[in-house]
Parts: sequence; C-alpha cells; structure tokens
Amino acid sequence: MSYDLLVIGGGIHGAGIARDAAGRGLSVLLVEKDGLASHTSSASSKLVHGGLRYLEYFHLRLVRESLLERERLLAIAPHLVERRRFVLPYRSRLRPAWAVRLGLFLYDWMGRRSTLGPSQGFRFAQSPYGRPLQAKLRYGFAYTDCTADDSRLVILNAKDAAERGAHVHVGHRFVRGTRDGRHWRAEIRDEASGVSRGVTARAIVNAAGPWVSEVLRGRLGSPNGRKLRLVKGSHIVIPRLYEGDHAYAFQHTDRRLVFVIPYLREFTLVGTTDMPWTGDPGPASIEPEETEYLCEVVSRGFKRPVVPTDVRWSFAGIRALQDDGTARASAITRDYALDLDAPAGLPPVLSVVGGKLTTYRILAEQALEKLEPHLGSLAPPWTATAALPGGDITGGQFDALPPALGRLYPYLGEDECRRLSRAYGTRAMRMLDGTRSRADLGENFGGGLTRLEVDYLRREEWARSADDVLWRHSKAGLWAKPAEVQRLRAYIGR
Ligand SMILES: Cc1cc2nc3c(=O)[nH]c(=O)nc-3n(C[C@H](O)[C@H](O)[C@H](O)COP(=O)(O)OP(=O)(O)OC[C@H]3O[C@@H](n4cnc5c(N)ncnc54)[C@H](O)[C@@H]3O)c2cc1C
Repeated sequence: MSYDLLVIGGGIHGAGIARDAAGRGLSVLLVEKDGLASHTSSASSKLVHGGLRYLEYFHLRLVRESLLERERLLAIAPHLVERRRFVLPYRSRLRPAWAVRLGLFLYDWMGRRSTLGPSQGFRFAQSPYGRPLQAKLRYGFAYTDCTADDSRLVILNAKDAAERGAHVHVGHRFVRGTRDGRHWRAEIRDEASGVSRGVTARAIVNAAGPWVSEVLRGRLGSPNGRKLRLVKGSHIVIPRLYEGDHAYAFQHTDRRLVFVIPYLREFTLVGTTDMPWTGDPGPASIEPEETEYLCEVVSRGFKRPVVPTDVRWSFAGIRALQDDGTARASAITRDYALDLDAPAGLPPVLSVVGGKLTTYRILAEQALEKLEPHLGSLAPPWTATAALPGGDITGGQFDALPPALGRLYPYLGEDECRRLSRAYGTRAMRMLDGTRSRADLGENFGGGLTRLEVDYLRREEWARSADDVLWRHSKAGLWAKPAEVQRLRAYIGR
C-alpha cells in the first residue's frame, strides 16, 4: 500500500498527528507495536494544565500555549477533561509567599480568557480544604486546572483518525525504512504472526516517545537527532484519602510539586517522581524508594498517614526530554521540539521530542505545518473546534449527559451512567443501542465491565488483550478480581 504519511507510535502524539492529517485529506497509516497508549501516554499525572511550576523556569510560551490548549480540550472533549480546583498548601521554608502569589497572578493573567475561575489565598482554619490536613499547615492558595483520562484521549484521537480514513494498525512494529527517490519504503511487522509487509509513504512522523532516537538512528538510518534525557516518573493509587473533588499540590523539601488527586470515585492518585532512566523504556515500573517518597510527601501533609501497604496500584512512564543541560531531572524543560530531517529531493521524517499530553493538539497542527512544503498544499487546520468522538455534548454540559443516559436506559445505575458517560460521551448511546434490560449487557467481568462493553472495545477501539481492556480502554482493572480477570482472558482468547 502507498500512503502520504506513515506515523510511528500510537501514543498521544502519533494519534493526534494521524487525526489531524487524516482530517486534512492525507492518506495515513498509524502503526503501534503494542496497544494504543500502552506506554507514556497512559502513565501521566492526568493533568491538562498550564504547568504552574514551569513559570519558575520562565517557560512562559509553554505555559501560555498550554493554558490555551486546556480551554480547547475542555471544549472538544468535555467527557474526558474535567475542571478541578487545586489547593497548594503554603510552606514558608520552601518558597516565599510573594513568589507563590506572583506565580498565581501570572497564571491567572495568562489564562485570563479562561472559563475557569481565578486563584485565591485563604486560611485552612476557615476552609473545608483544610479539614484533612495537618494543623501545622495554616495557609494555602487555590487555583483551577483540569484533569483528564489520558489513555482514552489517545484512543479517541485514533478513533477519529480512523473515521476520517486513516488506517490504524496496533500490534504492528515499524521495523525499518529506507529512502527510495521521493518515497520511503518501510517494513511493518505484525507482532502476533511475525509476518512483515512493505508499504511506501511520502513522509514519516516518528512519534515513538522514549524510542524516538532508537527509531531515528536504528530504524531510519539517520545520523541526526538531538541529545535526549530519559526520565522516569511513577505514581501510586491508594484508597480515597479525603472527601471532595479538589486536588492538592504539595511542595516537598526538594522543591518538587507532588499532586494528590481524587481518582475514579474510590481512589486517590499520588505522583510523580522524577528519576533519570537509562534502560529500555518498555518495562518501567515503580521502585520501592519511589513508593516511600510519595507516601512520605502525603504523610507530611495529611492527618492520615499513608504507608506502602496502602498502595492498590502503581504505574511508571518514561519521558523523552530534550537535553537542555539541566542537572536536576525535575527541572529539564517539558517543552517539545519537532525535528525535521529532509535532505534536498528526498522524503522527510519528522521526529517528535518531549511534549505534554496538554499540548498534543497544537503540536500536531505544527507538525503538519512543517510537513506541508513536502506534501503539497493541505486543507486548513481544523482540530481546535472539532469534537472528539463522544464529545458532541450539547453546550459542552457534561453533567447533563449521565441523567440523559439514565432516562434512555433505565436499568443502568447512577454510577454506571456516570462512568459510561465519562468514558464514551455520547458514544455510550451507540454502545447501548438496542439493549432493553441488564441481561442484554451480558456477563460481568468485574468493575462494571460487561460483555457488551468488551465487545465494543474490541470492535471499535482496537483492544486486543485483557490488559488493554482493563488498564487502557477502561480502568476496570482496579476492581476486577483475579477470577474475573481469568474469565476475561478466556473470553478474549476464544
Ligand atoms: C510521569 C509522567 C507524568 C506526566 N504527566 C503529565 C501531565 O500531567 N500532563 C501532561 O500534559 N503531560 C504529562 N506527561 C507528559 C506526557 O505523558 C507525554 O508527553 C506524552 O504521553 C508522550 O506521548 P508520546 O506519544 O510522545 O509517547 P508514548 O505515549 O510513549 O507513545 C509512543 C509509542 O510509540 C510506540 N513505538 C515505539 N517504537 C515503535 C516502533 N518501532 N513501531 C511501532 N510503534 C513504536 C510505543 O510502543 C509507544 O506506544 C507526563 C509524563 C510522565 C512520564
């Protein structure tokens, strides 16, 4: 097959670029060696944010751009992106109050066109935000940012790309590519069968995340490419620590910010760490000292201490960051770069380095701008206002969706309606279409996951394994018991 664009990597950047390109009329092939979002893009802190902390390093453009993107993502994916109040307890020894106030003032000012409220300072004794905290924490600030379901954001970008004509091949590795006149000749291998096939493309996007150098140098034979720093970040998930929808951002003695965020009604998400990484990015997992570090940060702030045995789940991801010469892993720039390798008269490869979940859409737009001179005139940018699948919710009012679902399918419980609305938006109706009773949803695999949903994920969203279903396409893995996981494995294997 012959394509305009071959995109390597089914993380947020690959999926976002494939979607944008397909919507501009290009023929696109996206290849992902594992499952969609199976690496960094499902291991983030799940913030769609300007990045208050980056102000300290004067990354003003990145913060401004991220704040704009936060608004856009809220509008195009109101089911996946949620407004959330963040409470920042003040500790005088770490940062002076005037510096925090100035940072928040700048943050508010940069996001002044936002629909999210401004920041404020307060005493914990007079605020419900202070209730779960230790008495030594007396003052704090609050500001608003967003959280999102990172892996579903990837999946729905890939879904939209496919609905606009892109071919999405998961479980397919990009093996190598060579330039042949004005085209790339590429070998793609189906990892399950081991069978390889050749495709040609006019341009390649290398969105392989932590493998970006391995793909560029090892598989595309390019001597170019910038120096990277791989940094691992880990999170723990513990039983819900406090009441309320607000999150906390704790300043630790090492000056890092650790977020404590309500997660899926029953849990609290805590992260992240920053550790230099030199190994293969594939099998990253949390180390015991990272768990202890995160427990310590939480226990210093909350009345209720947290210990490693409280941890229900943990995950780790690797960032591939531009090496800006900074010594501390947490201080390396989170900004992105788009490196174009396009020798005269030969087909281009564009590598994505660094970046954030928050800025994926604008990054995709800029990637196509860079490729346009090589691909010929493209349709204009379109993704800033086009809803992602399921995001076409009237007036963007998410809260109206779960009760509407409940009226259409009265046999669903309130929590079920909310979970399905969050995950699928208006597409939940497509999934449930034709069902008249609970029995029509079929067997329950735990965590509310029914056979109807598993079939939908396999048919419509490229889920291939129980792990895909339980941890990326849904988070039912947090509730599913071992026997239920076994049953799911057997069902998928059948
Ligand atoms: C701990 C942590 C916390 C973070 N928190 C936030 C946050 O709160 N907010 C935010 O905005 N950003 C956050 N980020 C950043 C964000 O998660 C990343 O920038 C983003 O997920 C990177 O996406 P990606 O598509 O570049 O990489 P990935 O998601 O890693 O995708 C790359 C894909 O390429 C595939 N691939 C590699 N080689 C091949 C090959 N040869 N053939 C086929 N496929 C291949 C891989 O399997 C992989 O799935 C965080 C990152 C980390 C690590």
